[in-house]
Amino acid sequence: DIAYVNGAYTPLEDAKISILDRGFLFADGVYEVAAVIDGRLVDNAAHLARLERSLKELRLECPASMQEIVEIEKTLVARNGIAEGMVYLQITRGAAERDFAFPKGVKPTLIAFTQEKNILSSLYAEKGIRIVTVPDQRWARRDIKSVALLAQVLAKQAASEAGCQEAWMVGPDGYITEGSSSTAFIITKAGAIVTRPNSEAILPGCTRLSVLALAAEHGLDVAERAFTAEEAYEAAEAFLTSASNLVLPIVSIDGRAIGDGKPGPHATRLRALYLDFARATACS
Ligand code: PLP
Repeated sequence: DIAYVNGAYTPLEDAKISILDRGFLFADGVYEVAAVIDGRLVDNAAHLARLERSLKELRLECPASMQEIVEIEKTLVARNGIAEGMVYLQITRGAAERDFAFPKGVKPTLIAFTQEKNILSSLYAEKGIRIVTVPDQRWARRDIKSVALLAQVLAKQAASEAGCQEAWMVGPDGYITEGSSSTAFIITKAGAIVTRPNSEAILPGCTRLSVLALAAEHGLDVAERAFTAEEAYEAAEAFLTSASNLVLPIVSIDGRAIGDGKPGPHATRLRALYLDFARATACS
Protein backbone atom coordinates (compact mmCIF):
# COMPACT_ATOMS: atom_id res chain seq x y z
CA ASP A 1 0.00 0.00 0.00
CA ILE A 2 0.94 3.61 -0.61
CA ALA A 3 0.63 6.33 2.06
CA TYR A 4 0.88 10.10 1.86
CA VAL A 5 3.30 12.03 4.10
CA ASN A 6 3.88 15.78 3.79
CA GLY A 7 3.67 16.08 0.04
CA ALA A 8 4.98 12.66 -1.01
CA TYR A 9 3.44 9.28 -1.78
CA THR A 10 5.53 6.47 -0.32
CA PRO A 11 5.12 2.77 0.43
CA LEU A 12 3.35 2.43 3.81
CA GLU A 13 6.36 0.74 5.43
CA ASP A 14 8.57 3.72 4.51
CA ALA A 15 6.07 6.38 5.67
CA LYS A 16 7.67 8.01 8.73
CA ILE A 17 7.36 11.14 10.85
CA SER A 18 9.68 12.67 13.48
CA ILE A 19 9.59 11.50 17.11
CA LEU A 20 9.29 15.21 17.91
CA ASP A 21 5.99 15.45 16.03
CA ARG A 22 3.46 17.12 18.33
CA GLY A 23 0.84 14.60 17.30
CA PHE A 24 3.05 11.89 18.80
CA LEU A 25 4.15 13.86 21.89
CA PHE A 26 0.97 15.77 22.80
CA ALA A 27 -1.85 14.40 20.62
CA ASP A 28 -1.77 17.94 19.19
CA GLY A 29 -3.62 17.10 16.01
CA VAL A 30 -6.91 16.23 14.35
CA TYR A 31 -8.08 13.47 12.03
CA GLU A 32 -10.89 12.35 9.77
CA VAL A 33 -12.09 9.02 8.48
CA ALA A 34 -14.30 8.69 5.40
CA ALA A 35 -15.75 5.46 4.06
CA VAL A 36 -15.07 4.19 0.56
CA ILE A 37 -17.78 2.23 -1.23
CA ASP A 38 -17.48 1.11 -4.87
CA GLY A 39 -14.11 2.90 -4.89
CA ARG A 40 -15.80 6.22 -4.14
CA LEU A 41 -15.74 8.53 -1.10
CA VAL A 42 -18.90 8.56 1.02
CA ASP A 43 -20.30 11.74 2.62
CA ASN A 44 -16.88 13.32 2.06
CA ALA A 45 -18.02 16.95 1.95
CA ALA A 46 -19.31 16.60 5.52
CA HIS A 47 -16.03 15.00 6.66
CA LEU A 48 -13.97 17.79 5.13
CA ALA A 49 -16.24 20.45 6.65
CA ARG A 50 -15.76 18.84 10.05
CA LEU A 51 -11.99 18.64 9.46
CA GLU A 52 -11.90 22.38 8.74
CA ARG A 53 -13.89 23.03 11.89
CA SER A 54 -11.60 20.86 14.05
CA LEU A 55 -8.55 22.67 12.62
CA LYS A 56 -10.09 26.06 13.31
CA GLU A 57 -11.03 25.20 16.89
CA LEU A 58 -7.41 24.21 17.62
CA ARG A 59 -5.96 27.08 15.56
CA LEU A 60 -4.16 24.55 13.41
CA GLU A 61 -3.20 25.66 9.97
CA CYS A 62 -3.92 23.20 7.19
CA PRO A 63 -0.84 22.60 5.01
CA ALA A 64 -3.06 21.83 1.98
CA SER A 65 -6.30 23.16 0.53
CA MET A 66 -9.43 21.05 0.89
CA GLN A 67 -9.29 20.48 -2.87
CA GLU A 68 -5.73 19.16 -2.57
CA ILE A 69 -6.84 16.92 0.29
CA VAL A 70 -9.62 15.40 -1.85
CA GLU A 71 -7.02 14.75 -4.57
CA ILE A 72 -4.78 12.99 -2.04
CA GLU A 73 -7.70 10.86 -0.85
CA LYS A 74 -8.70 9.90 -4.39
CA THR A 75 -5.12 9.17 -5.40
CA LEU A 76 -4.66 6.80 -2.46
CA VAL A 77 -7.98 5.05 -3.10
CA ALA A 78 -7.11 4.56 -6.76
CA ARG A 79 -3.45 3.57 -6.29
CA ASN A 80 -4.26 1.16 -3.45
CA GLY A 81 -7.21 -0.27 -5.37
CA ILE A 82 -9.65 0.26 -2.49
CA ALA A 83 -13.17 -0.77 -3.50
CA GLU A 84 -14.50 -0.91 0.04
CA GLY A 85 -12.81 0.55 3.12
CA MET A 86 -11.68 3.84 4.58
CA VAL A 87 -9.41 6.80 3.99
CA TYR A 88 -7.69 8.19 7.09
CA LEU A 89 -6.36 11.78 7.24
CA GLN A 90 -4.36 13.36 10.06
CA ILE A 91 -2.99 16.84 10.55
CA THR A 92 -0.75 17.72 13.51
CA ARG A 93 0.98 20.93 14.58
CA GLY A 94 4.23 19.55 13.22
CA ALA A 95 7.62 18.59 14.66
CA ALA A 96 9.37 21.07 16.94
CA GLU A 97 11.48 21.22 20.09
CA ARG A 98 9.34 19.81 22.91
CA ASP A 99 7.43 22.69 24.49
CA PHE A 100 3.68 22.90 25.14
CA ALA A 101 3.01 26.33 23.61
CA PHE A 102 2.54 26.54 19.83
CA PRO A 103 5.88 26.55 17.98
CA LYS A 104 6.59 29.39 15.56
CA GLY A 105 7.28 28.86 11.88
CA VAL A 106 6.66 25.11 11.98
CA LYS A 107 4.86 23.43 9.13
CA PRO A 108 2.00 21.15 10.18
CA THR A 109 2.26 17.44 9.37
CA LEU A 110 -0.28 15.98 6.95
CA ILE A 111 -0.50 12.22 6.53
CA ALA A 112 -3.06 9.94 4.90
CA PHE A 113 -3.51 6.23 4.30
CA THR A 114 -6.23 3.77 3.31
CA GLN A 115 -7.61 0.64 4.93
CA GLU A 116 -9.58 -2.11 3.26
CA LYS A 117 -12.67 -3.14 5.21
CA ASN A 118 -15.93 -4.97 4.58
CA ILE A 119 -18.53 -2.27 4.93
CA LEU A 120 -21.46 -3.48 2.87
CA SER A 121 -21.72 -7.11 3.88
CA SER A 122 -21.04 -7.02 7.58
CA LEU A 123 -21.97 -10.00 9.73
CA TYR A 124 -22.79 -7.52 12.49
CA ALA A 125 -25.32 -5.76 10.29
CA GLU A 126 -27.26 -9.03 10.08
CA LYS A 127 -26.76 -10.23 13.64
CA GLY A 128 -26.57 -6.93 15.45
CA ILE A 129 -23.91 -6.01 17.98
CA ARG A 130 -23.61 -6.16 21.76
CA ILE A 131 -22.48 -3.11 23.69
CA VAL A 132 -21.53 -2.13 27.26
CA THR A 133 -21.70 1.23 29.01
CA VAL A 134 -18.61 2.80 30.59
CA PRO A 135 -17.95 6.20 32.20
CA ASP A 136 -17.03 8.94 29.71
CA GLN A 137 -13.54 9.92 30.81
CA ARG A 138 -12.80 12.35 27.95
CA TRP A 139 -12.00 16.06 28.04
CA ALA A 140 -14.64 18.77 27.65
CA ARG A 141 -14.24 19.43 23.88
CA ARG A 142 -15.45 16.18 22.42
CA ASP A 143 -16.83 18.06 19.42
CA ILE A 144 -13.26 18.37 18.09
CA LYS A 145 -12.05 15.25 16.28
CA SER A 146 -8.64 15.27 17.98
CA VAL A 147 -6.20 12.37 17.98
CA ALA A 148 -6.31 12.28 21.81
CA LEU A 149 -8.18 8.97 21.91
CA LEU A 150 -6.97 7.28 25.09
CA ALA A 151 -10.41 7.27 26.75
CA GLN A 152 -11.88 5.72 23.59
CA VAL A 153 -9.08 3.12 23.49
CA LEU A 154 -9.89 2.10 27.09
CA ALA A 155 -13.64 2.11 26.39
CA LYS A 156 -13.25 -0.13 23.33
CA GLN A 157 -10.95 -2.46 25.27
CA ALA A 158 -13.56 -2.73 28.06
CA ALA A 159 -16.15 -3.61 25.39
CA SER A 160 -13.85 -6.20 23.88
CA GLU A 161 -13.11 -7.81 27.26
CA ALA A 162 -16.88 -8.01 27.90
CA GLY A 163 -17.35 -9.84 24.58
CA CYS A 164 -18.95 -6.76 23.02
CA GLN A 165 -18.23 -4.71 19.91
CA GLU A 166 -18.72 -1.16 21.17
CA ALA A 167 -18.95 0.87 24.39
CA TRP A 168 -21.43 3.67 25.03
CA MET A 169 -19.94 6.29 27.30
CA VAL A 170 -21.96 7.81 30.14
CA GLY A 171 -21.22 11.48 30.68
CA PRO A 172 -20.86 13.24 34.05
CA ASP A 173 -24.51 14.35 33.63
CA GLY A 174 -25.61 10.70 33.82
CA TYR A 175 -26.70 10.58 30.18
CA ILE A 176 -25.12 8.60 27.35
CA THR A 177 -22.83 10.83 25.32
CA GLU A 178 -21.91 8.53 22.39
CA GLY A 179 -20.03 5.39 21.42
CA SER A 180 -16.22 5.19 21.57
CA SER A 181 -16.19 5.63 17.77
CA SER A 182 -19.85 6.05 16.86
CA THR A 183 -23.02 8.02 17.52
CA ALA A 184 -25.62 6.45 19.85
CA PHE A 185 -29.33 6.13 19.00
CA ILE A 186 -32.37 4.46 20.53
CA ILE A 187 -35.90 4.07 19.20
CA THR A 188 -38.63 4.38 21.80
CA LYS A 189 -41.62 2.03 22.00
CA ALA A 190 -43.65 4.92 20.55
CA GLY A 191 -41.36 4.84 17.48
CA ALA A 192 -39.30 8.01 18.04
CA ILE A 193 -35.65 7.96 16.97
CA VAL A 194 -33.70 9.54 19.85
CA THR A 195 -30.12 10.81 19.76
CA ARG A 196 -28.26 13.39 21.79
CA PRO A 197 -28.18 16.90 20.25
CA ASN A 198 -24.81 18.14 19.01
CA SER A 199 -22.84 20.15 21.58
CA GLU A 200 -19.31 20.18 23.00
CA ALA A 201 -20.22 16.87 24.72
CA ILE A 202 -20.13 14.77 21.53
CA LEU A 203 -18.55 14.59 18.10
CA PRO A 204 -20.99 15.83 15.46
CA GLY A 205 -21.22 12.62 13.43
CA CYS A 206 -21.36 12.95 9.65
CA THR A 207 -23.35 9.71 9.38
CA ARG A 208 -25.63 10.95 12.17
CA LEU A 209 -26.43 14.06 10.12
CA SER A 210 -27.31 12.11 6.98
CA VAL A 211 -29.29 9.45 8.86
CA LEU A 212 -31.36 12.09 10.69
CA ALA A 213 -32.11 13.82 7.37
CA LEU A 214 -33.12 10.50 5.78
CA ALA A 215 -35.30 9.61 8.78
CA ALA A 216 -37.12 12.95 8.55
CA GLU A 217 -37.48 12.60 4.77
CA HIS A 218 -39.16 9.23 5.26
CA GLY A 219 -41.60 10.54 7.82
CA LEU A 220 -39.95 8.95 10.86
CA ASP A 221 -40.23 10.68 14.21
CA VAL A 222 -36.92 12.21 15.39
CA ALA A 223 -36.20 13.63 18.87
CA GLU A 224 -32.79 15.16 19.57
CA ARG A 225 -32.42 14.76 23.31
CA ALA A 226 -30.12 12.98 25.74
CA PHE A 227 -31.10 9.55 27.12
CA THR A 228 -29.82 7.34 29.94
CA ALA A 229 -28.65 3.72 29.87
CA GLU A 230 -31.82 2.82 31.83
CA GLU A 231 -33.99 4.32 29.10
CA ALA A 232 -31.94 2.47 26.47
CA TYR A 233 -32.46 -0.90 28.25
CA GLU A 234 -36.23 -0.39 27.81
CA ALA A 235 -36.07 0.92 24.23
CA ALA A 236 -37.71 -0.88 21.30
CA GLU A 237 -34.46 -0.69 19.33
CA ALA A 238 -30.95 0.71 19.52
CA PHE A 239 -28.35 1.36 16.86
CA LEU A 240 -25.16 3.25 16.14
CA THR A 241 -23.85 5.21 13.19
CA SER A 242 -20.30 5.86 11.99
CA ALA A 243 -18.49 6.31 8.70
CA SER A 244 -16.87 2.89 8.83
CA ASN A 245 -19.91 0.97 10.08
CA LEU A 246 -22.73 2.99 8.46
CA VAL A 247 -25.74 1.96 10.60
CA LEU A 248 -25.41 -1.06 12.91
CA PRO A 249 -28.27 -2.49 14.96
CA ILE A 250 -27.61 -3.12 18.66
CA VAL A 251 -29.18 -6.23 20.21
CA SER A 252 -27.90 -6.02 23.77
CA ILE A 253 -26.72 -3.34 26.21
CA ASP A 254 -24.94 -4.33 29.45
CA GLY A 255 -26.17 -7.90 28.94
CA ARG A 256 -29.84 -6.91 28.60
CA ALA A 257 -31.58 -7.81 25.35
CA ILE A 258 -32.98 -4.82 23.45
CA GLY A 259 -36.47 -5.42 22.07
CA ASP A 260 -36.65 -9.08 21.10
CA GLY A 261 -32.85 -9.35 20.99
CA LYS A 262 -32.73 -9.17 17.19
CA PRO A 263 -31.91 -6.25 14.86
CA GLY A 264 -34.97 -4.00 14.82
CA PRO A 265 -36.97 -3.07 11.71
CA HIS A 266 -36.23 0.66 11.93
CA ALA A 267 -32.48 0.19 12.33
CA THR A 268 -32.46 -2.29 9.45
CA ARG A 269 -34.42 0.11 7.27
CA LEU A 270 -32.20 3.07 8.17
CA ARG A 271 -29.12 1.05 7.23
CA ALA A 272 -30.65 0.29 3.81
CA LEU A 273 -31.70 3.93 3.32
CA TYR A 274 -28.25 5.21 4.28
CA LEU A 275 -26.54 2.68 2.02
CA ASP A 276 -28.67 3.79 -0.95
CA PHE A 277 -27.92 7.43 -0.14
CA ALA A 278 -24.18 6.72 0.27
CA ARG A 279 -23.97 4.94 -3.06
CA ALA A 280 -26.01 7.59 -4.85
CA THR A 281 -23.94 10.51 -3.51
CA ALA A 282 -20.42 9.01 -3.24
CA CYS A 283 -17.84 10.82 -5.32
CA SER A 284 -14.88 9.56 -7.30
N1 PLP B 1 -18.40 9.77 17.84
C1 PLP B 1 -17.09 9.49 17.97
C2 PLP B 1 -16.43 9.68 19.30
C3 PLP B 1 -16.37 9.02 16.85
O1 PLP B 1 -15.05 8.75 16.98
C4 PLP B 1 -17.03 8.84 15.62
C5 PLP B 1 -16.33 8.37 14.42
O2 PLP B 1 -15.28 7.83 14.44
C6 PLP B 1 -18.40 9.14 15.55
C7 PLP B 1 -19.05 9.61 16.67
C8 PLP B 1 -19.17 8.97 14.27
O3 PLP B 1 -18.88 9.99 13.36
P1 PLP B 1 -18.95 9.76 11.79
O4 PLP B 1 -20.37 9.31 11.51
O5 PLP B 1 -18.68 11.07 11.21
O6 PLP B 1 -17.95 8.71 11.45
